Amino acid sequence: MADDVFCMIINGEIPSTKVYEDDAVLAILDISQATRGHTLVMPKAHYSNILHCPPELVHRVYDVAQKIGQAAIVSMGATGVNILTNAGESAGQTVPHFHVHVLPRYDHENNGFEITMKDNKPDTLALPAIAEELRKNLKF
Ligand code: AMP
Repeated sequence: MADDVFCMIINGEIPSTKVYEDDAVLAILDISQATRGHTLVMPKAHYSNILHCPPELVHRVYDVAQKIGQAAIVSMGATGVNILTNAGESAGQTVPHFHVHVLPRYDHENNGFEITMKDNKPDTLALPAIAEELRKNLKF
């Protein structure tokens, strides 16, 4: 077991507000509540991020994330949900234990979460070369 804050929560060493738990997956409220109902879904086993987690377990984590998103719509009045994971410090990951953020979104509600993806206006001629670069090491 690693000693990140989520491993400590899973081990019962520090408290959390539990939303869901089974043999392999734990979901807790994020302490920062960027939006109302902001939940973190994680495997109980330690994997530093999604890229290192076995696919079967990734599926189980996302199954729970989907259900929590559905519940937020039905019982919390959310009108949309962002489901996302950060992998690596350059992607904004601060806790090195794979987790998925479920962020319920509400109409007309200011909150602490915003996604902006700028259009970097790539030269469209370069797109095939970029795709080729990715495909070179795409393994199934
Ligand atoms: P990330 O930046 O994707 O690694 O997200 C880490 C998240 O963990 C942040 O949104 C934090 O607010 C949250 N967090 C950190 N410590 C705790 C804790 N003890 N209980 C619940 N959430 C936490």
